[in-house]
Amino acid sequence: AKKLDGKIALITGGSRGIGAAIAKRLAGDGAQVAITYAKDANAASEVVQAIERDGGKAVTIQADAADAQAVSSAVEKTVATLGRLDVLVNNAGTAIPKRFEETTLEELDRVIDINVRGVFVATQVALKHMNDGGRIITIGSCVGERVLTPGLVPYSATKAAVKLFTQALSREVGSRGITVNNVQPGPIDTDLNPAAGEWAIPQKAATALNRYGRVEEVAALVAFIAGPEASYITGANLTVDGGTNA
Ligand code: NDP
Repeated sequence: AKKLDGKIALITGGSRGIGAAIAKRLAGDGAQVAITYAKDANAASEVVQAIERDGGKAVTIQADAADAQAVSSAVEKTVATLGRLDVLVNNAGTAIPKRFEETTLEELDRVIDINVRGVFVATQVALKHMNDGGRIITIGSCVGERVLTPGLVPYSATKAAVKLFTQALSREVGSRGITVNNVQPGPIDTDLNPAAGEWAIPQKAATALNRYGRVEEVAALVAFIAGPEASYITGANLTVDGGTNA
């Protein structure tokens, strides 16, 4: 038996990058997964195909994390299609890197709506359906605790918000055996933060391991938190950043 056999997981922003790796890893551990995406239906379908080739089950749901109605119905659809909900991974997120004084109100709203409001809405609806012993996992960032480069003011503030969201919510759902945790990646090679390029140089230099991380290295921690062995871990901020914040 696999450790997530019989579990249903919803991963927001699961079509590319870290979210796609999480979806594949949880499916590999036996869960049936639903993934949301905003724009790229083909990328989402490829994740499902990869999971099904390996004998798993997955579905895709189009839902922009900034659209509360869409997020809410994505959670409902997951339960309607797969039958229940045990694990929510709030992964959808974005950054609009630029200096704070040049950031527009629209850009500020966009980052807050996806990274914070989307997490609040998905979690609130998920908790209506979630079974006892469930798991709420949010993908924050190491910059939610410590910031080493300019250009990330709104983004860092949203990641700090989900950190305390996690801690505060753990106090409300513990009686149901539901754990709430925040996984904080450092520089991980994705479309959002490519390991090649100008931006990568200071980020790589700030790690203790002198390298970018791989999406699978984040997915491994998420899989552990989602699993039965992590039953006493809640309200925690778990950093997987190659030592960036050391
Ligand atoms: P990518 O941009 O590579 O992938 C983002 C994924 O989320 C895609 O599947 C994308 O789908 C989806 N997505 C983007 N915007 C929305 C939206 N508005 N609604 C729903 N889905 C959306 O990002 P990463 O994999 O790098 O990042 C994933 C998470 O990890 C984010 O929360 C990010 O802040 C966090 N993180 C990343 C780090 C890194 O170095 N990469 C470091 C620390 C944290 P589509 O193509 O359809 O838009």
